[in-house]
Amino acid sequence: MPKGRIIKALSGFYYVQYEGGVIQCRGRGVFRQRKITPLVGDFVEFEYGDKKEGYILSIEERENQLTRPPIANIDQAIIVTSVKEPGLSLNLLDKFLVLVESKAITPLLFFTKMDLLAVDEAERIKEKLDYYKKIGYSVEFLSTKDEEVERQLSDYLNDKVSVFAGQSGVGKTSLLNKIMPSLQLETDNISESLGRGKHTTRHVELIAFENGLIADTPGFSALDFKEIELEELPGCFPDFVELEDQCKFRGCMHIKEPKCAVKDAIANGEILEERYQNYLQFAEEIKNRKPRY
Ligand code: GDP
Ligand code: ZN
Repeated sequence: MPKGRIIKALSGFYYVQYEGGVIQCRGRGVFRQRKITPLVGDFVEFEYGDKKEGYILSIEERENQLTRPPIANIDQAIIVTSVKEPGLSLNLLDKFLVLVESKAITPLLFFTKMDLLAVDEAERIKEKLDYYKKIGYSVEFLSTKDEEVERQLSDYLNDKVSVFAGQSGVGKTSLLNKIMPSLQLETDNISESLGRGKHTTRHVELIAFENGLIADTPGFSALDFKEIELEELPGCFPDFVELEDQCKFRGCMHIKEPKCAVKDAIANGEILEERYQNYLQFAEEIKNRKPRY
C-alpha cells in the first residue's frame, strides 16, 4: 500500500506527497464515521483510483496536532518575538512556550527587530534572554532586513516540519516571505493600507524548504489556556522540571508547598524571577477559567 504525507487540503481534496510526486486524494467515508478528519501533516496510506485520483484509506497515529493552523505531526514551532515595536514581552513569550510545550512540539525562539535597538540596549536584552538558552532552548537574534537572515535560519528549518507563531506585528510574515520569496504573503503594513485584516480564512499548505516543510501561514497569534490542565503547567517549564526531583513533595506545584527546590532557585537567582511570576499568573488564569460547558 503506498504511503505519503498530506501537504495541502483544499475543497475536500487532500494532496498527498509520496515517492512518485503529489497525488490528489479524497478521504473515504470511513473517516467521517469515526469522526477523524485528515489533516495537513498526516501520514496516510492511500490507493490509486482512476483519473489519477487516489483514496486515503488510513491515517497514522499523530504525534501532535494544532487546531490553528490545522496541522498534524509538527516538529517545531518558531516562536517569533520582537524586541521592539511591539516591545519585548516575556509574559507572551512564556505563554507561547507553555502552549507549544504542552503539545509536545519543540519551540525555537527567534527574536526580531534587533536593528531597532542601540548597541548597549541590544547587549542588555541579549544578556537577559540568554536565560532561555541556558535552560535548553535554541535562541536566535535577527533582523528581517538583514541580507544574511535566510542563511542564519536555514539550518534550523532543514529536515523539519515547522510552524511560525507569535504575537501580531512581530515579523512572522516578513520572515516567511524572506525565507520563501515565492509565497508573497501580505505583511501588516500592506493590509493596513488596504483597510482589511490579513487573517482571512485561507487554506494551509506545507511548503518545501530545503529538506524541510514550512506551514505557509503566520500561525497562531492568540492564546488562551483552554486545553491545559493546572497539573500540566509545571511540566511546560523545563527549568522547573529540572529541579522537581529535589522538591520535598511529589507533584509539587511550586506555589505554596514548603521545601520547594524551584522556589529556592528563584531566591538564589538561578531561575528568572519574571518567568516564575508569569507561571503564577498562568496558574491563576487556569484556576479561574470557566468550565467548558
Ligand atoms: P506579523 O504580524 O508577525 O506577520 O508581522 P509582519 O511580518 O507583518 O511585520 C510587521 C511590521 O514589522 C512590518 O512593517 C515589517 O516590515 C516590520 N518588521 C518585521 N521584521 C522586522 C525587523 O526585523 N526589523 C524591523 N525594523 N522591522 C521589521
Ligand atoms: Zn516545588
